[in-house]
Amino acid sequence: MCGIVGYVGDKTAVPILMEGIKKLEYRGYDSAGIALLERGEMVFQKNAGKIKVLEENLAGKRFTATCGIAHTRWATHGEPNDTNAHPHTDESGRIAVVHNGIIENYRSLKKYLEGKGHTFRTETDTEIIAHLIEDNYDGDLLSAVRKALKRVEGTYGIAVVCKENPDEIIAARHGSPLVIGSGSGENFVASDVSAILRHTKQVVYLEDGELARVTPDGFSISTLQNVEVTPELQEIEWSLEQIEKGGFEHFMLKEIYEQPVALQNAQRGRLDFEDGMSRLAGLQLQLDELLSINRVILTACGTSWHAALIGEYLIEDLSRIPVEVEYASEFRYRSPIIPDGTVVFVISQSGETADTLAALREAKRKGATVLGICNVVGSTIARETNGGIYIHAGPEIGVASTKAFTSQIMVLSLVTLLLGRMRHMSIEKGRQLLEGIRNIPTQVQLILDNAEQVKRIADMYCDHNNFLYLGRGINFPVALEGALKLKEISYIHAEGYPAAEMKHGPIALIDENMPVVVIALKDQVYDKVLSNIQEIKARNGRVIAVASQGDDEIKRLADHVIYIPNVLYHLSPMLSIIPLQLLAYYIALNRGRDVDQPRNLAKSVTVE
Ligand code: GLU
Repeated sequence: MCGIVGYVGDKTAVPILMEGIKKLEYRGYDSAGIALLERGEMVFQKNAGKIKVLEENLAGKRFTATCGIAHTRWATHGEPNDTNAHPHTDESGRIAVVHNGIIENYRSLKKYLEGKGHTFRTETDTEIIAHLIEDNYDGDLLSAVRKALKRVEGTYGIAVVCKENPDEIIAARHGSPLVIGSGSGENFVASDVSAILRHTKQVVYLEDGELARVTPDGFSISTLQNVEVTPELQEIEWSLEQIEKGGFEHFMLKEIYEQPVALQNAQRGRLDFEDGMSRLAGLQLQLDELLSINRVILTACGTSWHAALIGEYLIEDLSRIPVEVEYASEFRYRSPIIPDGTVVFVISQSGETADTLAALREAKRKGATVLGICNVVGSTIARETNGGIYIHAGPEIGVASTKAFTSQIMVLSLVTLLLGRMRHMSIEKGRQLLEGIRNIPTQVQLILDNAEQVKRIADMYCDHNNFLYLGRGINFPVALEGALKLKEISYIHAEGYPAAEMKHGPIALIDENMPVVVIALKDQVYDKVLSNIQEIKARNGRVIAVASQGDDEIKRLADHVIYIPNVLYHLSPMLSIIPLQLLAYYIALNRGRDVDQPRNLAKSVTVE
C-alpha cells in the first residue's frame, strides 16, 4: 500500500506534493520520492526512509515546477532503498510513474521488454510500467498509458508525467484507490482525499478500468477501452482524521475490515490451478532443496506464534512433515537441535521483532535454512533470512494485530500446499484447497457484514471481568488468539484452552458469570466440542458459539450463536477468528479503552 499525490496548476508544486504525501504516510513509509517538470527537464529526488528524509534532501533547493508527482512507498517488490523508491522512469528518463499495487505479470513483461533492448535499474514491479508506456509512446501520453495498461495484470493506481507533455498528468486505476481533486486553475490526483483536502473538497473517485487526463484547466475520464466517462463530482464532508481512518473509528477496526483485500493480496499471483499448487518464488529454494525438507520449525512471538501453531496443524496434516513450534524467546536460549533437512520459518509482522530476529540468527548459526514470513519489505528479518514470503497485508497501525494474522495463515496455507504437492498430496486435493483459498476473501466479507450481531453480544458482556475461549484441533490456536485480542485491548482477563482441557482445571471457574466463547464448527471435532458445551451449560456458564452456517442443533445449547460460512477445516481459522476480533474490539470500545494504542504495548517489539 502506497500513497500517491499529483499536482498540475499555477502554484509551485513541491509544497503541495510534500504536504500531500505526509498526509498519506499512514499508507506506507519506507521510502519516498518526487518527480517534477522543472523548466523543460524532469527532476527527481528519491530517498529511503520516512518522508522527513526526502524533505531534508529537498531543503535549500529552489523549484519552480507547477506540475509533479510524489509517492510514499510500502514496498512489495524490492527493498526499500533509494533506487527502488518511486517515481520510476523509462529508458530515456522522459516518463515518470508512481504506483500503488502489484503488477503480477511483471516478470514476463520484463523479459519481453528486455528483448526489445530495455534495461532495468530497479527490483520493483513498477518500473516495467514506465518502460511499457515508453514502448507505446508517440507523443500522446494518454494513449500510451492506455495501451501499456492493457498488457498489465494485477492491481494499480498510477500517476504518470512526461517531459514532453509538461502540463499533464495521466492517472489510472485498477484495484488501488485513486481520486481526482478539482480546483480552479489547478487539479490534483491522490490515493485518498486527505492528501488534497486542504485545497479542494470537490472530487471524483476513479473506478476500476478508468483513466484520467488531468491538466490545470480540467480533466477528462475514459476507460481502458477508450469510452468516454462523464465525471461525477462529489463534495467531501468528512474531517481529515475520519478520512485517514477511512471513516472507521479506529485503525484496528479499519484493519479488521481490510481483511478481504489483505487476504486477496496474500494470494495474488501465487495460485496455480493447473498444477494444483502454489507459486512461492521468494522462498529461493530449488526443487531438490524443497524435496529434502524433512523437518520444519516455526518460531515467532505473540499473535505470530498463534499463526505458527495453525501452521503446525496445516503442515503436519497436509504436507506430512514433522513440525515444531516454539516461542522465539525460548528458542534463542535453548540451544535447539537442528539436524540436516530442517527449515526454520521465522514469522513476524514487522520483521523487526527482537526475539524472533535472535532466533533467526541462532538457527542460522546452527546451519539451518531460515525463511521469513513478514509484512514489512526489506525489514531486518527479510534481509537476514535465506528467502521468504511477504504477506502483503499493507501497513498495520493498530497495535493489536488482525489483518497480519489472517494473512500469515494464508501464506502458511500456501506453503503447506507447495510442500504437500511435492509429497503425498494429489492434484485434486491441491485444487480443492486452492478453491477454498480463493473463496476466503469473500467469506470473510460475509462475516464482516454481520458485525452488528457481534456488537450486540459485546454490549451484553462488556462488564464481565473473565472470559474463557475454547477450540479444538486447528481452531485451538484461534481460541488462544481470541483471548489474546480481548486481553490486549480491553484489559479483561481471558484464557484460551483446547476445549477438552477445560475439565482438567478451568472448569472450576465456570458459573453464571463466566462467558465462554467456543469455536464449534461442523468438522471432525464437532461432536466433541458439543459435549464440552454441555459441560459448560450444566454449570450455568454462558456460551457464545462460533458455528457453521446451517447448524441448527447448536442453537439449542448455546446462549448466542455467530454463524460463519462453511469452509474447509484446514482453512477455517481465517474465518473463525473474525468474530473474535470484532468481539474484542466492541468490548474494548464499550469500556472506553484506547483501542489502537493499548497501555503497555508497542507495535513492533524491538526489545528483548
Ligand atoms: N509494488 C510496488 C513497489 O513495491 C508498489 C507497492 C504498493 O503499492 O504497496 O514498489
